[in-house]
Amino acid sequence: MSHNIVLLPGDGIGAEVIYAAKDVLEAISKKYNRTFQFSSYDIGGVAIDQHGTPLPDETVEACKQADAVLLGAVGGPKWDNNPSDLRPERGLLGIRKALDLYANLRPVKGFPKLLHASPLKEEIIQGSDLLIVRELTGGLYFGQPSERIDNGNAVVDTLSYTKREMERIIDKAFQSAALRNKHLTSVDKANVLESSKLWREIVEEKKSEYPDITVEHVLVDAAAMKLITNPTQFDVIVTENMFGDILSDEASVLTGSLGMLPSASLAEDGVGLYEPAHGSAPDIAGQGIANPVAMILSSAMMLRYSFDMNQEANEIEVAVESVLNQNYHTADLKNEHGTLVNTSEMTDLIVKAINQ
Ligand code: NAD
Repeated sequence: MSHNIVLLPGDGIGAEVIYAAKDVLEAISKKYNRTFQFSSYDIGGVAIDQHGTPLPDETVEACKQADAVLLGAVGGPKWDNNPSDLRPERGLLGIRKALDLYANLRPVKGFPKLLHASPLKEEIIQGSDLLIVRELTGGLYFGQPSERIDNGNAVVDTLSYTKREMERIIDKAFQSAALRNKHLTSVDKANVLESSKLWREIVEEKKSEYPDITVEHVLVDAAAMKLITNPTQFDVIVTENMFGDILSDEASVLTGSLGMLPSASLAEDGVGLYEPAHGSAPDIAGQGIANPVAMILSSAMMLRYSFDMNQEANEIEVAVESVLNQNYHTADLKNEHGTLVNTSEMTDLIVKAINQ
């Protein structure tokens, strides 16, 4: 059986890291006798330049036909002053919507060899291993109206959710917790927001369907504090779109670098999209020094969630950890005693570890 993987390299370091992930997947394909077929399509700034739109129809079509999608990153200063419909991020929001990707899963793990690279104290982050489950399709980022009113003297953004949108993400979080350490933290602002009150009610209702899972409710402001003062208390965190956006970036400091954080965005029955948490890093683009690990770990998530290839996914994760344990690091992971490697050297080391 062949698996059809669409690659969306995008802009900046997106293209550099996505081909690193392809190399790693090809190593897996040889070792486990799997067939992966790759095709590449434009998204983001490069698509604006080539096709006059951040999300060409042929990209959307190819993704809908794919078994899974790997995305690098979009954006860069070249397009920063474009009108809003010609911004690279439009491509990203558009493809999430077109594929109905409602659940964003972001694992955050403090690798023992990288604890020093975090701005937080080692004793605080030691042992942290959590998963943030963020709702992707509703909330403030999509609610209408969102506009200036009263001749520009006032403004309105709308936070709207359907009950169904809340239920499916909360279910996904309970299911994710069942596969991990069986503890779910639901993050909301139920002391202020009506949407959060409904969210909390649904979590309470669903609890009885998942009797093995312990549940706690934490207000988003407290969660933001606990994430960096006591991150080991978390297993799975579930929250709505904007809170998840902010908390998942905050959680990235636990790993020491954005270059280490993978993510998966899942649809109910359709194709999954896998991408690193970082952006296109224009400051280092073209230098061949980007850390490919977040993208490579995203491809491992693809194997696990879209293709049910748990063993192969584990193989990639173990290979990454073994290379880090040998003290190899890219420039973003400061390590005075280690060996500095560039993108392709890091990729080759991971491929070698898989081939061993
Ligand atoms: P960024 O994640 O691109 O970079 C932040 C910092 O982290 C930079 O110093 C960068 O060099 C470093 N960094 C990020 N990934 C790295 C990696 N793999 N290896 C080594 N260093 C890495 O965020 P930014 O600078 O705020 O945004 C740059 C552009 O990316 C903007 O146009 C923004 O809109 C876009 N962006 C895109 C996405 C996405 O495509 N999902 C996400 C965030 C930002």
